[in-house]
Amino acid sequence: MRKGIWDCRFQIPDFGLQSQICNPQSAILRGVRLAPNGPVQDVCLREGRLEEVRPICNLQSAIRNIEGDGHLLLPGMIDPHVHLRSPGMEAAEDWDSGTRAAARGGVTALFDMPNTRPATTTPARLEEKRALAGVSRVDWGLYLGATSGNPEAIASAGNIAAVKVYMGSSTGDLLVDDEEPLERVFRAAAAAGVPVALHAEDEGIIRARMAALRGDEDATIHGWVRPPEAAAAAVRRALALGERTGAALYFCHVSTEAELALLREAKRAGRAVVVEATPHHLFLDEEDVRRLGNYGKVNPPLRSQRDCAALWEAIRDGTVDVIGTDHAPHAREAKERPYPEAPSGMPGLETALPLLLTAVLEGRLGFERMVDLTSGSAARCFGVESAGWVLADLSTEHSLEPGEIQSRCGWSPFVGRRLRGWPVKVWVRGALVFDGGRFGKAGTGREVCFRREG
Ligand SMILES: [Zn+2]
Repeated sequence: MRKGIWDCRFQIPDFGLQSQICNPQSAILRGVRLAPNGPVQDVCLREGRLEEVRPICNLQSAIRNIEGDGHLLLPGMIDPHVHLRSPGMEAAEDWDSGTRAAARGGVTALFDMPNTRPATTTPARLEEKRALAGVSRVDWGLYLGATSGNPEAIASAGNIAAVKVYMGSSTGDLLVDDEEPLERVFRAAAAAGVPVALHAEDEGIIRARMAALRGDEDATIHGWVRPPEAAAAAVRRALALGERTGAALYFCHVSTEAELALLREAKRAGRAVVVEATPHHLFLDEEDVRRLGNYGKVNPPLRSQRDCAALWEAIRDGTVDVIGTDHAPHAREAKERPYPEAPSGMPGLETALPLLLTAVLEGRLGFERMVDLTSGSAARCFGVESAGWVLADLSTEHSLEPGEIQSRCGWSPFVGRRLRGWPVKVWVRGALVFDGGRFGKAGTGREVCFRREG
C-alpha cells in the first residue's frame, strides 16, 4: 500500500480550545471577504467546505472564532510545478526551506519535479523522495522523470502527478530527445493512465544556437539561444506524439504566442491538453533581463512584450488552464558565474499569489478566474482536492525584501515590487502552517492522492 496518502478531506484546525458543543470539524471565521469587493461576513468552515453561519453553529461555536480582520479568504494555491532541489542540490533549497516558502506564499499543495540528484526515475527513488518529503509543511505530490529506458518505472510508479519529459535539456541530466524513446515514454504513460508533463523546447535548435556562442555573452542572449521557434517546434512534436499514442499532455511553462496558437487549436479539436503558464512569464519580459542578468536566466527564457501580451490574452480566454510557479531556485553563488555556466531558473513560491492578487486589484484579471487558475483547475486536471485556505491582506502594499525570503536561495526577481495580497494566515487541511510570520510544525503536509478515471 502507498504510504502517507491523505484522505482527501479537509480538517478544521483545533486552535487549542475545547468545544463541548460544536461539531469539532467546524470553525467560524469572523469578518472575512470571499471576493475582493465582497461584503465582510462570517463564514463557517466545515470539513473543508465554506458554509453560511447558521444561528445554531454561531451560538455554539463562539469559542472557535478566528478573526478575519476584513481580509480575503481564498483557496490555497495548488502549484503543479515546483523544484525543491532535494536530494542533491540542497545549497539552493530543500523540503524544509522550500515548503516554508510555499506556506508563506499561500501555496498549500505542490508537486515536486524529478530533476534532482539523483533524478527521480524509479519507484525506489520515489520512495527516497517520499522520506525527504516527511518534513513538508504543505501537501505534496511527486513527478516521475522519464529517461530513454524507464517505461517499466512508469508502469509501476503508482501515485504520481505525471511523467515529466525534458524534450530540451535544462537543470539536471534528464533528456529524452530521440523519437523512438520519446514514443515509448508516451505509450507507457498512456497505458498507465498518467499524463505526460512536457518541458517543450527543441534540443536540436538550442544546441545549434549554443554552438554559435563565443562564450563571452551575457544573459540577454538567452532568448536567442532558446528562441520561440524551439518551443513551438517541440509543442508541435509533442502534440503529434500525443495524437499517435493517446497520452494526455500537460504543457509546462508555455511562454510564446506561437505555442499558444498551436495549443488553442489542439484544445478546439478536443485534445486532452492542459496548458500551464508561470508568473515570471506573465510579470517579467526580456527587458527585465538587462536589469536581472543571470537572475533573469530561466528556461524557457523571458520573452518579448508581444509574447507576454499573448500569454495574458490566453489567461483570459481560457487557453491557459493552470498557473504553475516553476519555482526553481539556485544559490546566488551559482547565478554569479558567467552567463554560459550560470544555471537557469528562479524562485516563485512566495510571490505568485501576491502578484496575481495585485493583478486582480488592478483589473487585469477576474478574481474567480484567478482562483480557478491557482487551485480549481489544478485540482480538476490532476484529480486532487484543494485542501488549504489562505487569508490574504489586500489593503496593505508591501514590497518583498531579501531578508524576509524563506527560500534558501535568498533572492527573488520580484524584490522591490510593490504588491498587495500577501498571505497573513494559511491553513493546510485545518492546520495553521503560516500565521503572520510564524510557521507551523514541519511535517504537517501529506502526500496528495491523484485520482484518475480508469
Ligand atoms: Zn521546471
